[in-house]
Amino acid sequence: MSEEKEPLNFIEQIIEEDLKETHKKEDLCFRFPPEPNGYLHIGHASSICLNFGLGLTYDAPVNLRFDDTNPAKEEQRFVDAIKRDVAWLGYTWENELYASDYFQELYDWAVQLIKDGKAYVDSQTSEAMREQKGTPTEVGSNSPFRDRSVEENLALFEQMKSGEAPEGAHVLRAKIDMASTNMLMRDPVMYRTLHKHHHRTGTDWKIFPMYDWTHGESDYLEQVSHSFCTLEFKPHRELYDWFLDQIHDPKKIRPKQREFARRNLSHTVVSKRKLARLVEDGVVQSWDDPRMPTISGLRRRGYTAASIRNFANGIGVGKRDNLIDVSRLEFSIREDLNKTADRVMAVLNPVKVVITNYPEGETEWLDAENNQGDETAGFRKVPFSREIYIEKEDFREEANKKFFRLKLGKEVRLKNAYIIKAESCIKDENGEVTEIHCTYDPDSRSGSGSEASMRKVKGTLHWVSIKDALEIEVRLYDRLFTVASPDTDKEKDFMEFVNPNSLEVITGYAEPSLKERKVEEKMQFQRLGYFVVDKDTTADKMVFNKTVGLRDSWAKIDQ
Ligand code: ATP
Ligand code: MG
Repeated sequence: MSEEKEPLNFIEQIIEEDLKETHKKEDLCFRFPPEPNGYLHIGHASSICLNFGLGLTYDAPVNLRFDDTNPAKEEQRFVDAIKRDVAWLGYTWENELYASDYFQELYDWAVQLIKDGKAYVDSQTSEAMREQKGTPTEVGSNSPFRDRSVEENLALFEQMKSGEAPEGAHVLRAKIDMASTNMLMRDPVMYRTLHKHHHRTGTDWKIFPMYDWTHGESDYLEQVSHSFCTLEFKPHRELYDWFLDQIHDPKKIRPKQREFARRNLSHTVVSKRKLARLVEDGVVQSWDDPRMPTISGLRRRGYTAASIRNFANGIGVGKRDNLIDVSRLEFSIREDLNKTADRVMAVLNPVKVVITNYPEGETEWLDAENNQGDETAGFRKVPFSREIYIEKEDFREEANKKFFRLKLGKEVRLKNAYIIKAESCIKDENGEVTEIHCTYDPDSRSGSGSEASMRKVKGTLHWVSIKDALEIEVRLYDRLFTVASPDTDKEKDFMEFVNPNSLEVITGYAEPSLKERKVEEKMQFQRLGYFVVDKDTTADKMVFNKTVGLRDSWAKIDQ
């Protein structure tokens, strides 16, 4: 894949250093570790492109590892969606792995830690434990259960494991240092009990390992050389290393956690938990609603995998969290579709035009270029007849010189067809134009080579023959949130910033060639924007999603 990439980012520099000093090329191994508690979003795309991109750069394996240690939130359907999305983005994982595959090893190591006096069962309430934890400026205090005997700890841990102990009665904690300046080192919880059904292990396990205990050990078991995570895990690194110290065999690769900045996108939220609320509260229809910043939603909106990879690789990895304007993502898809999408004609806000000197009942099939910028894209036929639709905004009875569209007494060219002149119009009782009467110049057909066909007229309009038109449903989208950063307001819940008008459904009229188009096919509706066939399409009705306009209409509004 030859796509935009930063020259050598700081992550690659870390790897290059390690290759010089400690690692051989064949030692390199990476992973992408999603929790299956929702669909992947555009933030994940950064992590996917980083990890799988490194795999390609260094010809190293990349595992897809599901971090599935919380049965209360995780589901098989999310596992399936994540696999589908990573594959669709164009990446191939070496192994499909699950943290839950390591429950036995993790348990055995935990027992060893208890025997070594490095872990203990705490039977206090979580409030009591929180109080003893101290604050960043105040040391914590030891749990009254900290010095339980090894035998007692083993017996209680066994009760936790068998389910004999009620849910929440005990936790297993690492015995580290209640006075550490790093709060995470103050005897962190390694296991809690949950009597819930797990999507893979069923009811076999009643104890579930916490993130910190699971992640580094999973990396170690898979012999991942570099474990890249987002910046909020930086303070966890000390604990990641402490846990590895307890189990590491020096003959093996010791995984290294390094952090990069989270990528946030404006006018949306990139957090599975928050996206889940949008689905649950019915703000959107589903995880793959075209308004969602999920990979599946963007795909349904008409984004290509290449445009998402280009976006992610273009912003690259950074050391500070930042907000990327959504216009950058839109730029990326516009750039891609401009090269690849066929041009077609559809009218979304129609007004009828009658060409009074065109024979009644006649239909002509005219040649139309699929993509003016690309000769290889070929031609199609579009029907022309006496009655056509044009866009309402393309006609004015009177207008100044800068209005290059249709006005009374003036000419325009109909794309791929003839030059017409507006002679008169009919209005309803509200003064709205309902019908425009025009004449056409029969010698002016585009591509006919005649003198009249070469005649320069200022405006060119798209149009559709009424009797041949395909009635289509068109879904137009606006931003899902009214502000750039809906989830950084401390006073207000992000749901308060939901844009109530993010979806508009209209009926449009398209040239009949669109009937042949399949779900996910993308095209440019000339002068209007890029559109994609939605999966809600049926034999009776085609449904299109607007992907993006032809230019950034927000740039002006935001000024
Ligand atoms: P969420 O809050 O959406 O669930 P998460 O970080 O908890 O995000 P995981 O499924 O645990 O989600 O993440 C898998 C990987 O993707 C992790 O390595 C995580 O750091 C990375 N990741 C998640 N969100 C972003 C983001 N916005 N930018 C870059 N990387 C991200
Ligand atoms: Mg998470």
